[in-house]
Amino acid sequence: MSNVEDFLSAEEEQEIVQAIRQAERNTSGEIRVHIERTTSLSHYNRALEVFRMLKMFNTKEQNAVLIYIAVDDHKFVIYGDKGIDAVVPTNFWESTKNTIQQHFKQGNFKQGIVAGVLKAGEELKSHFPWSVKDTDELSNEVSKG
Ligand code: CA
Ligand code: CA
Repeated sequence: MSNVEDFLSAEEEQEIVQAIRQAERNTSGEIRVHIERTTSLSHYNRALEVFRMLKMFNTKEQNAVLIYIAVDDHKFVIYGDKGIDAVVPTNFWESTKNTIQQHFKQGNFKQGIVAGVLKAGEELKSHFPWSVKDTDELSNEVSKG
């Protein structure tokens, strides 16, 4: 089931990890990426399930965000924790969604994820700026289903 490698090389995966590191230099928020082929659940519910599975609720400021992608379904979901929802406008993730969508439409899969991660970091920065006390609470590795 796990042959995400077919559309994401090890090198490309490392570029995504690098983008997460870079994004988290500007915000205390934690960004994770999960990629799988498909799901039998609704994509929103599956994103929530993955969020739980990755223990992403365990951040001090409840400010983790998951970019969930089901490749075969051509779907992705951006799921942010309630610490984020509490302080941002409802359409907060719209710009990040648009960024990802634009790249995906052109078939630029890796580039879409990298740009989405960086955009999410930028958006988080205004509400959750990085501080010296910040730690890397969640792994930056790409999760694959
Ligand atoms: Ca952090
Ligand atoms: Ca992290």
